[in-house]
Amino acid sequence: MGNAPLYLEPLYLEPRLEPRLASLLESASFLHTLVDALGSPLNIVLPEQMAENAERFRSVLRRHQLAGQIFFAHKANRSSALVRRLASSSAALDAASVGELQHALGSGFTGDRIMVTGPKDPEFLWLAARAGVTVNADGASELEEAARLVRAYRLPRLRVVLRLSGFETSGTRTLSRRSRFGTSYKSLDGLLDTLERHQDALDPIGVGYHLDTTSLDEKTTALEGCLRAVEELRIRGFQPRAIDVGGGFGISYLARGDQWDRYTTELTHAVMGRRPPMTWGGHGYGLRVENGTLRGSLSLYPAHRPIAGAAYLDELLSRPAPSLGRPLGTLLLESLTDLYAEPGRALTDQCGLSLGKVLEVRRTEAAEPLVRLAMNAGDVSLEEHGVLMDPVLLPRDGATPRAAGVAGASGAAGASRADGPVAVHLMGNLCLEADLITRRAVFLPRLPQPGDLLAFANTAGYCMDFTATRAQQQPVARKVAVHAGEEANSWRWCLDEQYWPVGHMGGQQA
Ligand SMILES: *Cc1c(COP(=O)(O)O)cnc(C)c1O
Repeated sequence: MGNAPLYLEPLYLEPRLEPRLASLLESASFLHTLVDALGSPLNIVLPEQMAENAERFRSVLRRHQLAGQIFFAHKANRSSALVRRLASSSAALDAASVGELQHALGSGFTGDRIMVTGPKDPEFLWLAARAGVTVNADGASELEEAARLVRAYRLPRLRVVLRLSGFETSGTRTLSRRSRFGTSYKSLDGLLDTLERHQDALDPIGVGYHLDTTSLDEKTTALEGCLRAVEELRIRGFQPRAIDVGGGFGISYLARGDQWDRYTTELTHAVMGRRPPMTWGGHGYGLRVENGTLRGSLSLYPAHRPIAGAAYLDELLSRPAPSLGRPLGTLLLESLTDLYAEPGRALTDQCGLSLGKVLEVRRTEAAEPLVRLAMNAGDVSLEEHGVLMDPVLLPRDGATPRAAGVAGASGAAGASRADGPVAVHLMGNLCLEADLITRRAVFLPRLPQPGDLLAFANTAGYCMDFTATRAQQQPVARKVAVHAGEEANSWRWCLDEQYWPVGHMGGQQA
């Protein structure tokens, strides 16, 4: 293609920014100062936002007149600041390893505000039982093991929630996807036999599910299944009092649905060869062409979602139960059942960003700009999670910042001008061909320069530290907690591990 501009018109995917995160991104010189001091990559978390998000979930429970608890799925982020801030709210926490459980206990959560989920080794189960947390049990063998530990170590009766899966509507089609976790709804009877044998050691307080899907239909089926399971428990003489609807409420990452629609349409055209490629090496994000026909499906997170987070929970509770017909929230209320939820990603919405410094800008033989960052694909794993979203350019010199060229996108031939919109490939700092921060070309309002920062917004859920490694002895990002200072547009910060709610909760200092 020679030097012809590969991209005729910018295809932006602007991040959705709520006021707190937007205001932080406008403080470019503050962010540059932090990276100058602490290095690149650098992660920033916003504890106050986390508390606000938990409150949004709570208010959904109130709207449906339900009692219950919101458990933050800790695995979404390792931050101490976020966990400690939540400890000082009314929220609870879902720990998926002995390390997360220790972190929660050491951050101020008491056992009655913790639930443990996921695969459990005996040490994890023992600490959970010792600390009086609720065990979300995967199946009969875990119940057996828990009962054995309770007796052997003379621990108090352990509260357990039964994780179920494989729900059906009216006994025909299995609507919920297969999961390697939980006990099939069909095997509930056997599970209750196990519980009967261990009544002295285990107190089944409820049932639940966690489905890794965005489908509301699957979740209404599962929730109705849980309402039936609660009845089964009551018939067998147990006293269940909660249903746990798991996590998976999601985030709407993008500001504009039209950009998302246009981008995915153009991506399809590119895979079909009807327009120049939009990705490194023609990567198709799950799409491919065989004999002129489009195959596969886009393996991407639905980055623009009309309903996500607390609004998704609200929608679930407002939906009619598939066979009982009345709203699920009403049915929960009538069965005197509390609602537990375990949002991970959704509670971290707008709670952080990842900064990477631009090290080098050069061009490929085809004149496409390559931008190398002082971070790698493990430091900002948006791609790994299928989230396509543009970073925000924060120039070193303080010139007009911002991501998507609301201003400059004058269209057509501007695509390769140094001062106009440009499509760049973002490369990481590892000696690996695969170390691409994005597999797609990303449009920026202008070509970055060494020393500029790229800010990846909204990475606090799984995309910040879940996959970070010390590969090649590159530094792992430090993490800082920030909150608004007393003066307008001022920020205060501390290292994540130095954060304690005391003295850091804006306006609530003692
Ligand atoms: C990961 C996980 C969650 C959180 O899922 P999100 O999609 O981040 O909301 C909740 N519960 C369990 C059991 C999990 O494994």
